[in-house]
Amino acid sequence: NDNVDDVICVRDVRKAFGDTKALQGCSFTARRGEVHAIVGENGSGKSTLAKIISGVFPADSGTVELQGGTPSSPAHARTLGVATVFQEVLLAEGMTVFDNLFIGAEGPRTRKGPRAEQLRRVAAVFTELLGEALDPYGLVDDLPLSMRQWVTIARALLSEPRVLILDESTAALDHSGAERLYEAVVRLKAAGMCVLIVTHRIEELTRFADRATVLRNGVDVGTLEGPQITQNRLLEMMTGDTAHFG
Ligand code: ADP
Ligand code: MG
Repeated sequence: NDNVDDVICVRDVRKAFGDTKALQGCSFTARRGEVHAIVGENGSGKSTLAKIISGVFPADSGTVELQGGTPSSPAHARTLGVATVFQEVLLAEGMTVFDNLFIGAEGPRTRKGPRAEQLRRVAAVFTELLGEALDPYGLVDDLPLSMRQWVTIARALLSEPRVLILDESTAALDHSGAERLYEAVVRLKAAGMCVLIVTHRIEELTRFADRATVLRNGVDVGTLEGPQITQNRLLEMMTGDTAHFG
C-alpha cells in the first residue's frame, strides 16, 4: 500500500478459536487524522480484530499492515505506534496509578525522562481527559470503575501513539464521561492521530466518526463514510435486517 496516510491496512483477515469462526474475512483501511469506527453486535468479531491489530495474536490468514510492519506481539505493536485500550480493564492491583501507567510501557517516549517529568505528563494527560488531575500515588484498587477506565486510557495516551484503539471504552463511563472521551478523540484526530473506535453503541458514533466499518458474524459488510453513517443504516448492516428503516 503506497498511501502514506493509510496507517492500518487490514486485508481479508480470518481467525478461528477452535470451532468458533470469530473473523471470516475482514478488510478495511484507516487513515491518519481519522476517527474510524468498527461496529457490530456482540460476538461479531470486533475485539478479535482489535487484538490482532494490537499484536495479541496473529491472524490465521490475511494481512495486517501498520506503517513499519505487521505486529508480531503487543510490544511490537507499541513500537509501531499502536496503543490499545482493551475491552477488559486490566490494571495491576495493589499498585499505584503511577506504576500502572508505566508498567510494561514500551512506547518510544514513555520511559524517557526523570520522574518529575513523568509526573508532569501524568498530570497533563488526566487534566486533558478529565479536567482535573488524579493522585498518581493512589492505589488503583481504591478507584471507581470509571476512573479505572480513565487510567487505561491515560496509559495508552502516554505512549503518544499514532494509532489509538478504544475497545468499548465508554462501557464503564457515564454519559458525561463518554462525552469527555469523545471530545478528547476529536482533539487527537485534529492532531493527526488515527483513532479506531470499537463499539456496539452506535448511537454515539454518528456525530463524529469519519468512517465506520460494520462487522456481521465476523465478516465486514461494508464501510460507510460521513453523512452515510446513520443509526438506521448501521443497524441494518449490523443485523442484515431492513426492518430498521422507516
Ligand atoms: P465482539 O468484540 O464483537 O463482541 P469478539 O471478537 O469478542 O466479538 O468474539 C467473537 C467470537 O469469538 C465470539 O463468538 C467469542 O465467543 C469468540 N472468542 C473471542 N475470543 C475468544 C477466545 N480467546 N477463545 C475462544 N473464543 C473466543
Ligand atoms: Mg468486544
